[in-house]
Amino acid sequence: MFVGHFAVAFGAKRAVPAVSLGALFIACQLADLVWPLLVIAGIERVSVQPGLTAVTPLDFIYYPFSHSLLAAAAWAAAFGAAYAGLRRAPARTGAVLALVVVSHWVLDALTHRPDMPLTMSAGSARVGLGLWNSLPGTMAVELLLFAAGLRLYTKTMKPVDRTGRLALWCLVAFLLIIYAANLFGPPPPSGMTAAWSALAMWLLVAWGYWVDRHRAVVGA
Ligand SMILES: [Zn+2]
Repeated sequence: MFVGHFAVAFGAKRAVPAVSLGALFIACQLADLVWPLLVIAGIERVSVQPGLTAVTPLDFIYYPFSHSLLAAAAWAAAFGAAYAGLRRAPARTGAVLALVVVSHWVLDALTHRPDMPLTMSAGSARVGLGLWNSLPGTMAVELLLFAAGLRLYTKTMKPVDRTGRLALWCLVAFLLIIYAANLFGPPPPSGMTAAWSALAMWLLVAWGYWVDRHRAVVGA
């Protein structure tokens, strides 16, 4: 899942308007921000098997520290507590951020093959409902989520200048272009290449902060 994760971040802005879109991007994509680092470090493993699912050729062989349910809960608690502590935000804000972190696992479990471990132990049970076996199904779910999340965001935050308008719509276009390239482009030559290109996700976090600095809460 790709744009569906960002949908959660956009939509969550309505619940916690004081939290920057950039921080919400970190929360919704924490697992996929950490994953490439762990793959490059040789701790987690991925390979490319063209045709594995209708949507992605990535075979997630071992990724319990970024993508198990237990790890998701731990990352969520740590991120929510760290944000609330460092920014002196209400506990409710930390709780919403924790939920956004966990949403990544839930949405991935909907789309992945049964490769999502429940715990960090090597023999852990793995789950996954396999929406990725259907290209139209995946696109329908993700694009509907994305449209709904974006609508909540634009209803909550209005641009304060031209950058506020342009930066958002360029970001939306960029996300959709990456999404289309993932869906219809050639498979990456190797799992390591996939991990290196996934590092670009950090750029999207910076972009989220930039968009949010040029927008303000409606009515504030
Ligand atoms: Zn993921």
